[in-house]
Amino acid sequence: MNVYDADKVRTVLTFRGWQEVPEDDAELVIITGCSVRAKAEQKVWSELGRYENSWKKNQSPVVALTGCVAQRLGKKALSRFNWVRLVSGPRHIGLLPNSLEKIMADPKIKISLLDDDPREFFNLDFDEGNTAILRENKYKAYVTIAHGCDNFCTYCIVPHVRGRFVSRQPDEIFNEIDFLISDGVKEITLLGQNVNSYGRDINLNFAWLLKKVSEMNLKRIRFVTSLPQDFNIDIVDVMAARENICPSLNLPIQSGSNRILKLMNRKYNRDEYFEKVNMTREKIHDLGLTTDLIVGFPGETEQDFEDSLDALKTVKFDLVHSAAYSEREGTPAATMQGALPVETRLKRLDTLNKIQDGITLEINKNLVGRTFEILVDGDAPKGENLLQGRTPSDKVVIFEGAKNLLGKFINVKITEAEAWCLHGEVIE
Ligand code: SF4
Repeated sequence: MNVYDADKVRTVLTFRGWQEVPEDDAELVIITGCSVRAKAEQKVWSELGRYENSWKKNQSPVVALTGCVAQRLGKKALSRFNWVRLVSGPRHIGLLPNSLEKIMADPKIKISLLDDDPREFFNLDFDEGNTAILRENKYKAYVTIAHGCDNFCTYCIVPHVRGRFVSRQPDEIFNEIDFLISDGVKEITLLGQNVNSYGRDINLNFAWLLKKVSEMNLKRIRFVTSLPQDFNIDIVDVMAARENICPSLNLPIQSGSNRILKLMNRKYNRDEYFEKVNMTREKIHDLGLTTDLIVGFPGETEQDFEDSLDALKTVKFDLVHSAAYSEREGTPAATMQGALPVETRLKRLDTLNKIQDGITLEINKNLVGRTFEILVDGDAPKGENLLQGRTPSDKVVIFEGAKNLLGKFINVKITEAEAWCLHGEVIE
């Protein structure tokens, strides 16, 4: 979400004549940070401190802190560091370009744009100049369909730093996608903290939006993140009916224990979760299913942890984004009874990851010999002449190929499987 917001700001500033330069030459540095994990927040503090010497010598660069991390640390950062001259919460993104210009024009001012009202939202008119958002990948793009979240899971900082749920107007979404299509984008990921609740504040729904987007000239559509309690058959039916909606779903379970799910304020139990998975798999073959799971939540017993392991073995996810619980100040879970020692949390994480690696590898090995259409989206991280792309179900495939394949859809036969990726060869 923060990357996408940063791309929007970059687009507007570039259109206004600002130039991106190497950091050593910069008069202004914009740091857009995440506050979901405590570690990311600590990183931001050390980043901000890095400019001290340069500021003392040259009174430069000016630093602006944005994103959800600014919402949490903004006040302190503004008073602690002279070089931090602007802080902006994510819902003030629309006021950012003018405010940045103001602080650069007047060295005496500091500006604070924190989201004090969680329902207020200042949209950024990113299509100033009728252009698509500048982004790192030419062929793939994210499009936000809703901001904020109303769910208040007890471990999560998001509703506190990104405010309440608000859907974007459909026309705005369609216009943004049109720009992206005309700019060469082949794959769109619809983005929101909980995409499944799209439209409930404007009398629409996510299944409707998904179908509308699938009628646009796009080869591939994905969406993240879904919330089990809001994920429904209408969405599955649209996914099944429209060929350009990828058979890929991230459905965070967070825990396999009903007791812990309750403590987390997740509004489903494990059986309801399993039912949603079965309902989806019945209609969508070759579904790539991933999940998010936290271990070591306050009060998690050995049995609760076993229930989570059992959920992995029952569902057999393609991939699990796992994390050891870490306290986020300001959330109810941070002060709950029964905090587990960090070593226990990490040990459980390690056990879970080992089990899941085995499951992922087994699933991937079953794909050897099959052929998939992939969108070639970049160079592989390692190795000469190696490119990478993703299958419709969102598996990374690495293969040898010429650069002119970038941005194309090609067929690749899977020749080898690892837990984190597949290897293949191009089929002419
Ligand atoms: S639904 Fe997601 S974003 Fe919203 S509070 Fe729960 S975990 Fe956080």
